[in-house]
Amino acid sequence: MTRPGGVWQNWARTEKIRPQVVEYPTTVEAVRRSVRAAASRGRAVKAVGSGHSFTGIAAAPGTLLELSELSGLVSVDRERGRARLLAGTRLYRVPALLAPYGLAMANLGDIDRQSIAGALSTGTHGTGLRFGGLATQVVAATLITADAQVLTVDDDNEPDLLPAVALGLGALGILVDVTLQCVPAFTLHAQERPEALDGVVDSLVARAEDADHFEFYWFPHTDVALTKTNTRRAADAPTSPLSSAARLVDDLIIGNGVHQIVCSAGRAAPALVPGINRLSARVWGDREFSDASHRVFATSRGVRFREMEYAVPLGRLTEAFRAVQDLVDERQWRIEFPIEVRVAAGDDRWLSTAHGRDSGYIAVHRYWRADHRDYFGAVEEIMLAHEGRPHWGKLHTLDASVLRHRYPRFDDFVALRDRLDPTRMFRNSYLDRILGA
Ligand SMILES: Cc1cc2nc3c(=O)[nH]c(=O)nc-3n(C[C@H](O)[C@H](O)[C@H](O)COP(=O)(O)OP(=O)(O)OC[C@H]3O[C@@H](n4cnc5c(N)ncnc54)[C@H](O)[C@@H]3O)c2cc1C
Repeated sequence: MTRPGGVWQNWARTEKIRPQVVEYPTTVEAVRRSVRAAASRGRAVKAVGSGHSFTGIAAAPGTLLELSELSGLVSVDRERGRARLLAGTRLYRVPALLAPYGLAMANLGDIDRQSIAGALSTGTHGTGLRFGGLATQVVAATLITADAQVLTVDDDNEPDLLPAVALGLGALGILVDVTLQCVPAFTLHAQERPEALDGVVDSLVARAEDADHFEFYWFPHTDVALTKTNTRRAADAPTSPLSSAARLVDDLIIGNGVHQIVCSAGRAAPALVPGINRLSARVWGDREFSDASHRVFATSRGVRFREMEYAVPLGRLTEAFRAVQDLVDERQWRIEFPIEVRVAAGDDRWLSTAHGRDSGYIAVHRYWRADHRDYFGAVEEIMLAHEGRPHWGKLHTLDASVLRHRYPRFDDFVALRDRLDPTRMFRNSYLDRILGA
């Protein structure tokens, strides 16, 4: 976030930069003016969302555009269940905007602090084999290109570009609005429980196929998987939401205070970590509840951490997880944060981690003050050996020379970038690395 003094830093504190200029456009015309002004001074320009990417994808050394005021609902097509939202809208605001129309987003990730444009642009996803990442919900988008023109991509205008623009890494232009294909509002019934890790891993794909939304967390140095199975129900199905007391315990144990202390203690005395993890696995997650979908999907993450996440073909998920498990068991690391395993349907977005294949996701985390490099580096090697593709918003070390071979439409994306942004107005060093300068 941009702070007084003009310094921007991301949530994970992995990136910090002082842009030359910070602007706060509140209208589409103002965005065009900002792009035109940056172009005339030969300055790069970049929109940031809520700074929740762990990579430098949002770093804006030239003109930084804060679009948090370019927010809200533009229109709703009730017949087709489509909602057009301004690009800076935070995900946590969307449920209230859609509620009057009886609509909801089909799937969400673990948190809802991101801007809609930021979440889409990095391929943010949740879990569920019948659901793609958030970018698969996009049916139209409007962006400002490098020559400050308005480009509309929808069923009638340049429809072939939608699979690129819906997940564009911020490299194709400044998104000013997106239209989502929504679904009728629904509730979720959540079952969260500790189970024997081996059994969960052995039946992983079957469990994921059976459930609407299945995922699990493994606290390294334990033999427990904390499973989460969410089942979709009608909007008017009876619900039993978590009490405020239960939410408080959840926030205390996992999200905030206690886990913060645990991470600090683990850092000071790493030998304590296995015991702490066993305790965390015991006290966390043995409950059933139901609520409006967004209240079940999204949780709060109060303890700062760093993360790397890779997508592998679903058929290789089990062996990839086993390899990570063996690695953690063999090495002397003391990992204080759980590993998260999720799934998603294959899709057609050119740079989606799930492009053309049903996918399993393995995400590793470390407390933000701990050194993540050896751990993430060794896990990354395993992921690469299993046809892995890194999440664009999470830490990884790949560059264009490797990524090109992992995405069948990579060169098409670069060609479109050449067309829409020939002078690289929207570049930064992360994009230079992953797409080529
Ligand atoms: C605690 C936490 C939990 C997370 N949980 C998940 C999860 O469950 N699933 C998952 O997949 N990811 C998850 N992420 C990653 C996160 O969803 C992505 O990194 C996402 O991009 C962050 O959105 P943002 O609004 O912060 O975007 P930023 O990080 O600010 O920006 C990301 C990219 O979007 C571009 N961008 C932003 N606005 C525009 C615009 N208007 N036009 C064009 N480009 C734009 C930026 O230039 C940049 O390239 C999590 C991250 C954190 C910190």
